[in-house]
Amino acid sequence: MTLAHSTATAGGNPGRPARAVIGALVIDMVGVRAKYECLRCRTVEGPVYGTDAVTAFVADIRTAHLARCTGPREPRP
Ligand SMILES: [Zn+2]
Repeated sequence: MTLAHSTATAGGNPGRPARAVIGALVIDMVGVRAKYECLRCRTVEGPVYGTDAVTAFVADIRTAHLARCTGPREPRP
């Protein structure tokens, strides 16, 4: 039995277009918490705790933070 577990980027998929990473959404399913670290303004939103809070946070944080993000449009190298 062979598991189809591919870590290679080469393959049938031509690859996704490179998209600028502007933030890191970290979700901890074990501790049931989530936080969002913006790479533009270096702000960390959260963490929030609990299933309901995490669900709402994940669904909304990118939009919510973008509205109040004070960072530059491009991440600093
Ligand atoms: Zn930001």
